[in-house]
Amino acid sequence: MFNLYNFKIEKLEELLVNEYFQKKYRATQLFKWIYEKRVTNFDEMSDISASFREVLKKDFNLNKPTIFKKQVSSDGTIKLLLQMEDGALVETVLMRYNYGNVACVSSEVGCNMGCAFCASGFLKKTRNLETSEMVGQVLVLDDLLKEEDPNKRVTHIVVMGTGEPFDNYDNVLDFVRILNHPYGFAIGARHITVSTCGLVEGIRRYAKEGLQINLAISLHAPNDEIRNKIMPISKKYPMDELMSAVKYYEKEAGRRVTFEYILLKGLNDSKENAKELAKLIKGTLAYVNLIPYNPIKELVYQRSDEKSVHDFLDTLTKCGVTATIRKEFGTDIDAACGQLRAKNEKK
Ligand code: SAH
Repeated sequence: MFNLYNFKIEKLEELLVNEYFQKKYRATQLFKWIYEKRVTNFDEMSDISASFREVLKKDFNLNKPTIFKKQVSSDGTIKLLLQMEDGALVETVLMRYNYGNVACVSSEVGCNMGCAFCASGFLKKTRNLETSEMVGQVLVLDDLLKEEDPNKRVTHIVVMGTGEPFDNYDNVLDFVRILNHPYGFAIGARHITVSTCGLVEGIRRYAKEGLQINLAISLHAPNDEIRNKIMPISKKYPMDELMSAVKYYEKEAGRRVTFEYILLKGLNDSKENAKELAKLIKGTLAYVNLIPYNPIKELVYQRSDEKSVHDFLDTLTKCGVTATIRKEFGTDIDAACGQLRAKNEKK
């Protein structure tokens, strides 16, 4: 049995032509039914013959994750703990920016990157998420929006939930292609962002995909010394390798990356650190997104005070770096990074 949400259109065409002796356009028809019209019952697919609908019913399903827990914040942020078919629990979040509805999607069950400040890593990775399970996260959030108002929809995607997307490269790439496809979710490439902790092979491979999808890199430090303290991956891929991969991406893909930088009190948030950061990324086209740290009870890290945040931003700006401060959502509902799932599994 195949889950139909697992297939990007090219793979579905291939399967339908080679295994089911169908014409290629069947894949387009199916995409339109399941993503444009959001039909979940094969019998409603009126332009597909009754006999092939029977075949589809036998070999394919349209299963989505189920809602195990739902939290709604005072700012409208929805955080879901979703249950997959094997029982795995995965977090997914909907944030309402003034420019649109942003789904924050998880890419793995747990995470092995071990970043010291992050709650996702409390639970080690048990497996990759299937493409259909990532598509499912967006579908479930989109369904909730449509219950509020049939015209509402998920307009933006960030692959910034639990997991490291480039550690589950193929499934994540199929997922973003389904979202981006005009007969799929039809979300513009520039409204989709994949965020990596800096897996250099992944960045170099992604550079060659010919995609306009945004790439964000969790940098969080201006040098190897500080980065080694908080991100174990930094020992495998030191700063100079990471920066050369970023430059390669800029050249190959013709796009700039965003550096994410969590400000941690007394650790990476001084004016000196800001100057060093500006120097480090000089020669790239990158832009810096400063992230107020979302404190996690079990951890020692503290968020920077407001003055340090603004001084940091000022220093970057004076050094000619474009930077912004990320807006915060759902701080009253554990919306930060793996906290809900970790809490639940502990119980
Ligand atoms: N593995 C990927 C994507 C998941 S993390 C990556 O590292 O980019 C998504 C973003 O949330 C990363 O920038 C991560 O460093 C950040 N993050 C993790 N814990 C956080 C916290 N407690 N407060 C604020 N941002 C956090």
